[in-house]
Amino acid sequence: MAVGYWHHTGKPQKNKFIGLAGAYHGDTTASMSVGYSELFHKPFVSMVFDVKTFPAPDAARAHHILPSPPAPAGGTASDVSSYVFPSEDPELNTALMSHCLTALDNLLTAQADQTAAIVIEPVMQGAAGMICQPPGFVKGVADLAKKHDVLLIADEVATGFGRTGKLLACGHDQVTPDILCLAKGITGGYLPLAATITTDAIEQAFTSEPDERPPKTLYHGHTYTGNPLACAAAIASLKLFDENNLLDHINQSAQLIQDKLVALRDHPFVSDIRQRGLMVGIELGKARQSDSGPDSFDFARRAGAQLCNAMLPQGLIIRPLGNTLVLMPAPAMDHETLEKMLDIVVATVADWRFDT
Ligand SMILES: *Cc1c(COP(=O)(O)O)cnc(C)c1O
Repeated sequence: MAVGYWHHTGKPQKNKFIGLAGAYHGDTTASMSVGYSELFHKPFVSMVFDVKTFPAPDAARAHHILPSPPAPAGGTASDVSSYVFPSEDPELNTALMSHCLTALDNLLTAQADQTAAIVIEPVMQGAAGMICQPPGFVKGVADLAKKHDVLLIADEVATGFGRTGKLLACGHDQVTPDILCLAKGITGGYLPLAATITTDAIEQAFTSEPDERPPKTLYHGHTYTGNPLACAAAIASLKLFDENNLLDHINQSAQLIQDKLVALRDHPFVSDIRQRGLMVGIELGKARQSDSGPDSFDFARRAGAQLCNAMLPQGLIIRPLGNTLVLMPAPAMDHETLEKMLDIVVATVADWRFDT
């Protein structure tokens, strides 16, 4: 749609994309290209097209991103109680944000005239390992898109419909993207449905008179476009969203999660906790054992998977992303169930004996 927009508005050379490092956008050829991952997509590397990326403000790995990261705000081997998680270290986040946005600005200066759009997962990158962005980052990206005359595509497939505490994650920074991708939460997950929403300006570019040749119609239909059952499920789910004041409930649940996870702050092998609403990553690592930066445990030891397996017999199924435990409770989950879930997570992590 972004490429078609520029084609129809007389700038067909604007046909490249810029992505955010570590992004996941799905598994079609184009979405693999903007979110290329060795782990997921290696067999298809011959098919993907070239996409330039800019670094994500990944605080837990800032020492790989910043040429000279600021000294950690706290917490080395002997100093557990004053430890500040990387993702909540203000100085580190300021340095990261400035570094990442400058990199994007430079990239756009070099190739905005050939670029259709920047694609991001706003506020929190899911599959990358629950990598959150400091407040203002999405606004920074949106401002640069505007400055360089490229479109902003927000992939809110994971973050949409209240997941981060606002109806849309872009709402945290009062950003309106040019193209918005929605799926997962749109039906509460009960039937498959996705929606691509755009501005009037983009819609207009695809509008032409019936006898105009070539026509400007976007001929990208799908067999199940507008499927009535899926749409009915979405409408019913969105009705419940309103009727049950789900956004309020989500924000209460988010507070409950935050309060419960305080119990893990002093754990010597919890190196970061990243939360945006009901999207949570608990990263396991040896952060406080050395001064060399919060490197994760060696992936081969599969600490994340071991912990998730230990939670199974207690009745909890969660998944890790590498060494990051992922909590994505259903937005409508009642607080009693949520507390039970958090108690299992906290107790299992607290009791776990990592060999060092
Ligand atoms: C799940 C997910 C996708 C995949 O969407 P499909 O509709 O299954 O292709 C894309 N982007 C993000 C951010 C996701 O979390």
